[in-house]
Amino acid sequence: MKLYSTLDKKIVEIQPNKEGEISMYNCGPTVYYRMHLGNIRAYVNWDILHRALLYLGYQVKRVMNITDVGHMTSTDDFGDDFGTDKMDKQAEKEGIQPIDIANKYIDTVLDDFRALDIIAPNGKEIPNDLTHEKVSEFGWTRATEYINQMIEVVKRMEERGFTYETKQAIYFDVTKIPDYNIFTGQKLDEKKVGAREDVGIDPEKRNPADFVLWMKKVGKYDNHLMNWPSPWGEGFPGWHIECSAMGTSILGERFDIHTGGVDHIPVHHSNERAQNIGAFGHPVVKYWIHNEWLVNKEDEKISKSKGADSLPEIVKLGYDPLDIRYLFLSVNYRTKISFSMEALDGAKNSRKALLNKVRELGQEKGKLLEKYVEAFKDDLDNNLNMSGALALINEMLKSENSSEDKLATILDFDRVLGLNLNQAISEDSQEYKEGQNEELDSLLRQRIEAKSSKDYLKADALRKEIEELGFKVIDTSQGQIVSKN
Ligand code: AMP
Ligand code: ZN
Repeated sequence: MKLYSTLDKKIVEIQPNKEGEISMYNCGPTVYYRMHLGNIRAYVNWDILHRALLYLGYQVKRVMNITDVGHMTSTDDFGDDFGTDKMDKQAEKEGIQPIDIANKYIDTVLDDFRALDIIAPNGKEIPNDLTHEKVSEFGWTRATEYINQMIEVVKRMEERGFTYETKQAIYFDVTKIPDYNIFTGQKLDEKKVGAREDVGIDPEKRNPADFVLWMKKVGKYDNHLMNWPSPWGEGFPGWHIECSAMGTSILGERFDIHTGGVDHIPVHHSNERAQNIGAFGHPVVKYWIHNEWLVNKEDEKISKSKGADSLPEIVKLGYDPLDIRYLFLSVNYRTKISFSMEALDGAKNSRKALLNKVRELGQEKGKLLEKYVEAFKDDLDNNLNMSGALALINEMLKSENSSEDKLATILDFDRVLGLNLNQAISEDSQEYKEGQNEELDSLLRQRIEAKSSKDYLKADALRKEIEELGFKVIDTSQGQIVSKN
C-alpha cells in the first residue's frame, strides 16, 4: 500500500517490518470533553485506513491511546493555562474527580465511535455494552495504566544521558538529538524566539524546546490531583511520554505506522521521535502519517476552544452520524475539508442516493465482480484514493452486470466504507416506496410536475402538505427521496 510519509515528504510504498503484517499506533483522544468534528475526522480517517489494510489482506496490530492524565497544553508544558492540567480543570468545573471525568468522556468517545461505525483498534465491532471499564480489551490503552512503563522509558533516557532534572521537572534535552527538528526543518535557535514566553517559568530549563518527561508535584503543580511515586519524586508524566511508552510496550521497539493530525508534527511527534531515539538508540516508527485539518468557513482549524459541534449536536439537526462519516471518508486524508452545512447536506444526499441504489438491487447476493474488486483495491492501495473508489462504485452500479453480483460486490466494499449497507437492505426501511399511500403518491407526482415547470412556490407548498402527512422529502440529483418523518 502507498501512503504519504511525512518524514520522506512523499508517497511511499509501505514495507512493513514483518511481511503481511502492519503494526499501527494512532494518537487518540484526550478525554476531558466531548469530541468535536475535527477529532472525528481524524478517527474516521484511521478507521478507513485500518479497514483498507484488512481488505488488502494485511494482518493489523493496532493500538490507540487514551490520554487520561496530564495533558497541559497542546504546544508546551507551561503554556497559557500554566499551572492547570486540562483534566484537573474540567474535574473542578464538574465537581468530580479527574478519573471520573476521564471515564465519563471515554464513554462518550465509545458512543460516537459506535454511531460512526468506527471499529475498535483490535479490529472488532464496538459492542453496545462496552464502557470505559473494558476498553483495554479492545486495543485502547489508557495512559494511567502505563505509568510504570513510562517511568521505565524515562529511566532508559536518563541512563543514556538525554535528560536533566530541575526542582520542578525532568526534561528531555533536545540538543542531544542532532536532527530533532527533522519534521519541520526548523533550526533549534529559530524555535527559541517563538517559545520565548515560557522561558523563565522554570528558570532551570536550558532550552525552550526541551520538554517535560516527568512533572513533579511541586510549585505550580502542588495541587495537581493525579500523582504517582517515581524515582524523581511524586508527580505525573509529561504528555509525550505516554505514546513512546505505550507504543513500544505493545508494538515493540520497531513498528510500522504512527498516525496523528498535522498539528502533532512540530511538537508532539517531534518529541516522541526524540524520546524513542533517546530511550532505544534508534527511531521506532517507520512511517509517520498525518491527517489534514477539518476547517471552518474562515479556514480556521475546528477545535474545542472555537466551540465546534459535537456529533449529538449534528444528530439533533436531523443528520445521521453516517452522513458525517460519508463526508469525511469521501475526501483524502491529506486534503483539508472545509466544514459547512452545505457540505454535510451534500454528503447526506449522496449517502441516501447510494442507499437507494443498493436497495434497488434486491436481497439476493451473487458473486463478486472481480474486475471491480481489483480496481477498488488499486484505489485503496493508491494512498487511499477514496474519491476514486466512490466513483468506481457508481460506475459498477451503473454497469450491465446482474443486480445480484452488484449487491455482493457493494456489500464487500462496505467492509471498507463502513456505511452499514447490509443493514440498510435488511431492516424495515424508513424509506417510502411508491404504491403504499395514494394521497402521498399524488402529492409526489404533482411536486415532480411543479419542479419540472419551475414552479418552486407550488413545489414548496406541496412539500408542506407532504410533511403534514408525516413524511419528509429530500431533493437529490437522482430525484426526490421520501422517508417517514
Ligand atoms: P486531541 O484530543 O486534542 O489530542 O485530538 C485528537 C486527535 O484529533 C488528534 O490526532 C488531532 O490531531 C486530531 N484533530 C484535532 N482537531 C482536528 C481538526 N480540526 N481536523 C482534523 N483533525 C483534528
Ligand atoms: Zn500521541
